[in-house]
Amino acid sequence: MPCTVARYAGYCAGVRKAMETAVAAAREAGKKGIQCFSLGELIHNPEAVKALRNEGVIPIHQVEDAPKGSMVLLRSHGVAPQVEEQCRARGLIIRDCTCAFVRALHKIVHDCGEKGMPVILVGERDHPEVRGTAGWCQGPCHIINAAEEIESLPPMEEALAVSQTTFSPSQWEVIVARLRERIPRLQVQCTICPATHQRQAEAIALAKKSDAMIVVGGRSSANTRKLFEACRSICPNTILVERAEEIPPHFINIHASHIGIAAGASTPDWSFKEVVTRMNDMEHIDQEINQEPAAVEEPKEEAQPQQEAADGQALTMEDIEATVVRIRPGQTVTGKVVLINDDEVGVDIGYKSDGLIKRADMVEKDVKLGDEIEVEVVKVNDGEGNVLLSQRNIVNRKAWEALMAKFENQEYIDAVGKEAVKGGLLATVEGGVRAFVPASQLAQRYVEKIDQFVGQKMKLKIIDVDQQKKRIVASRRQVIEEESAAKKAAAWEKLEEGAVVTGIVRRFAEFGAFVDLGGVDGLIHITDLAWSRVGHPSDVLKINQEVQVKILSLDRERERIQLGYKQLQPKPWDNIEEKYPVGSILERKVVRIRPFGAFIELEPGVDGLVHISQCALTRIAKVEDVLTVGQPVRVKVLAVDPEAKRISLSIREALADEAMTEEPMEIPGEAPVEEAPAEEAPEAPAEE
Ligand code: SF4
Repeated sequence: MPCTVARYAGYCAGVRKAMETAVAAAREAGKKGIQCFSLGELIHNPEAVKALRNEGVIPIHQVEDAPKGSMVLLRSHGVAPQVEEQCRARGLIIRDCTCAFVRALHKIVHDCGEKGMPVILVGERDHPEVRGTAGWCQGPCHIINAAEEIESLPPMEEALAVSQTTFSPSQWEVIVARLRERIPRLQVQCTICPATHQRQAEAIALAKKSDAMIVVGGRSSANTRKLFEACRSICPNTILVERAEEIPPHFINIHASHIGIAAGASTPDWSFKEVVTRMNDMEHIDQEINQEPAAVEEPKEEAQPQQEAADGQALTMEDIEATVVRIRPGQTVTGKVVLINDDEVGVDIGYKSDGLIKRADMVEKDVKLGDEIEVEVVKVNDGEGNVLLSQRNIVNRKAWEALMAKFENQEYIDAVGKEAVKGGLLATVEGGVRAFVPASQLAQRYVEKIDQFVGQKMKLKIIDVDQQKKRIVASRRQVIEEESAAKKAAAWEKLEEGAVVTGIVRRFAEFGAFVDLGGVDGLIHITDLAWSRVGHPSDVLKINQEVQVKILSLDRERERIQLGYKQLQPKPWDNIEEKYPVGSILERKVVRIRPFGAFIELEPGVDGLVHISQCALTRIAKVEDVLTVGQPVRVKVLAVDPEAKRISLSIREALADEAMTEEPMEIPGEAPVEEAPAEEAPEAPAEE
């Protein structure tokens, strides 16, 4: 059975302020050792009056009842200035609880009277507010309470019409219309406080959709009575109660389909709360908050009645929300720690009974008595009358909500591998939630040993969620793929042909070496590794070696990058004449033998030719007669042609030079050596 609580119910801003001022004043009086009186009952509610009495506020009916030097409270209805004067004359300490709306009304009539303009005050003649207001008017003040009374007014050319703050707006409209007909220059200031009207309007709306209504408030309060009568005129099953125990036990059974609860502006929070809690207990209702009505205007200190009070709505809502305890499983409430033992923590959540949290359900381990903590209601009644609470549920819920937000935004989550199970890995993700990572989602390639991920930190992406069972399926593979795609895209952005970049040698193939350029791999073809002939890339580079390479070409479509390593190395033929000056003698090895001579490697990429005629001191028939491949020989540089990339060498001249430096040696029977005609030297090996 739904039970709807009126959103605007209970103390208005003016009454609340008056109550707070009264309590503070009573305590102040207590400290000073004097008595505290209220001039009339502070509000029309016996419960509130009783509570104030307990605080030391004693209602009196006239100023003379207060002993001299004592403290006196002027209630929210306000008083005439003459009454204030009386209090001062008696030496009373005044604490003014006059509502700001009423005080504004006083000012209006006072200013009007000063101008000599008559005031027509619309309201109940005997109401303390009306009597007090009339006292502030220095000129003529006519009080009327109904349109019929207009006829009794004296003839007037001009006047100002104002109203009691709690007057009925509809009646006010009628009276103003009639006054306009009668008084040519009528000025109108609507001084009706919206709080009462607003509470009435909402209670009436609630009564229209309810089978039964409970109006909470003092029977002595005119406002509450009006509220009750208004509701009863629409919903005959309306009852007026001051306390929860006045609700007849059979009330729910009789009116079991929909019940509304409303309260007047003078109804204390606790009375209202009691009734709501009682209803809660009676049928474990799932209470609804009535639809939010139009913003209400409440008074501000010193505000004009027409001014809007920004705190009006907040005050009423907060009051009700803060004091009416409506608990249900799953609800989060704040409470005060009132008990701590080894097994559980007791929390006062403002409900009729305290809540208990098992130690296992506590998240904050070092709570102290008096700490305010947030808890979730697990059970309203654990069978022994206790409310079961949990802190862990809140943490779990928040963690789940955070994960769902990440799922929605496709964000990654941090995880740690926990257990290898059939078909995948169980991981603990943020907030202690478990996630399942299928084996196919663990890596880009097939994973044989899933337990290698146990204990490993990883990033995951949620790919599926079962909200009911609170289960998550996640993928590590997608994270890797997305990260590498992003890295690749960023790397491609930076690449341009001709640029020199740094990379790491990752792997070799027969045809070259692959270099990681930070997300993308490029290939150094074997012919681009060195200026000389290379048998295998490992002859030049090592795996994981950091190298500088030149981007020779980029094929963005096919994602191919051609790199050059040798292009950044000095060319062997640069400065060749300086490195190998004519006449210098070198010791090098024979690398190739041809019919016309032998090639000697001076350095990688640079070979010189020893013509057959220069291979020995004597004439030879074949080069192989005196030389073999790999044999070290001393050679003399005869000529260097950088353009043609040719170097002519001579073993014979090297030997002759050496002989010149030694003792002359006669070679018996040897005819003088004739210079063999130089053959055309074949082209030296190609530079590249
Ligand atoms: S004037 Fe309005 S706000 Fe002031 S006490 Fe009366 S009902 Fe409350």
